Amino acid sequence: MDARTGLPVVGMVGAGQLARMTQQAAIPLGQSLRVLAVNADDGAALVCADVVLGDHRDLDALRRFATGCDVVTWDHEHVPNEHIRALAADGVVVHPGADALQYAQDKGLMRTRLSELGVPCPRWRRIGSREDLQSFGDEVGWPLVLKAARGGYDGKGVWVVDRPEDAAELLASGTELVGEEKVAIRRELAADVARSPFGQGATWPVVETVQQDGICVEVIAPAPSLPEDVADEAQQLALRIAGELGVTGVLAVELFETTDGRLLVNELAMRPHNSAHWTIEGSRTSQFEQHLRAVLDYPLGSTAPTARWTVMANLLGGPDDVEPKGIDERVHHFMAHFPDVKLHLYGKGMRPGRKVGHVTACGEDLEDLRARTRAAAEYLMNGGEL
Ligand code: ADP
Repeated sequence: MDARTGLPVVGMVGAGQLARMTQQAAIPLGQSLRVLAVNADDGAALVCADVVLGDHRDLDALRRFATGCDVVTWDHEHVPNEHIRALAADGVVVHPGADALQYAQDKGLMRTRLSELGVPCPRWRRIGSREDLQSFGDEVGWPLVLKAARGGYDGKGVWVVDRPEDAAELLASGTELVGEEKVAIRRELAADVARSPFGQGATWPVVETVQQDGICVEVIAPAPSLPEDVADEAQQLALRIAGELGVTGVLAVELFETTDGRLLVNELAMRPHNSAHWTIEGSRTSQFEQHLRAVLDYPLGSTAPTARWTVMANLLGGPDDVEPKGIDERVHHFMAHFPDVKLHLYGKGMRPGRKVGHVTACGEDLEDLRARTRAAAEYLMNGGEL
């Protein structure tokens, strides 16, 4: 409890853009977030008053951080599961807890559990040897997809392999692997929901996530031309997963819509997620506020959309030698040219391909919103003419 305000203290482990935007949502709730930052210049460390420096893999640092927090939550999946259990054993309230989070930390566990629950997934198998890979490939066909069970993000840790020899090095490296059939994907979707410890659930409209090279570049809310019954099914599926796995806070369920119209679960994230950044402007309650409400076991907020369509485009760092040169100059021209496109910069240095921010626009004309957000993102990152 914060003695000055009488309000609870939420600790978020990790100080990236998700914590930064959670802090933005905490302010009107009268709260301030405590963050555990690896570096003093991490995105959220720059904007939070209560910053603890430390490594999220260090149990002592986590314990020091958690002291005085009413609840501890996560901006990423990289805290060792046994440390989360140790914190809970100390009496720290953690949301989501270790039992739920293990399914977002380990793709093998996630596939096992979802299969037990009868949730539609790509055909999959744990792969420990060349023989496993050969027999799995014989079953599902080549090419197939290999994934590191732990630690992957933004397509890192995902490999498409045409034949067993292609994975020789990977198999020899000892990386724990999960094989999946290579799904014929029409498009990728996400069903984002929140669930409180009390058991209240809330869903946002199902979105389309447009990917390039394994990285999400654009999100369209709601997913265009998605039949209502399919959208309902995806939302119900996400709520069911949240309930069965005991997820508290925001749960993002990444989905594949197959070319023959089926929905398959790709993966789970138990925290605010890129697929719901659009909710800052496009929903009555943003995912960041909802996550705070949920982990504090407050009643959840309305998820009604604020506009017919909302489009978000990620800002992925471009090369150094763009014209006009300075990001400040490009921001100036962007603002003049796109007065109703909202800019979010995460306080990060520019590096090619790095997610440094996003832009969002809401309105009635989807093609116009897509064109403007795409042009804005392109100009901000790669310069050129407006
Ligand atoms: P990450 O954890 O890095 O986000 P994902 O499991 O989401 O990894 O995979 C990254 C991307 O790779 C997906 O968005 C999708 O485009 C592609 N992909 C992943 N799994 C499959 C699959 N089984 N079949 C076809 N494409 C896949």
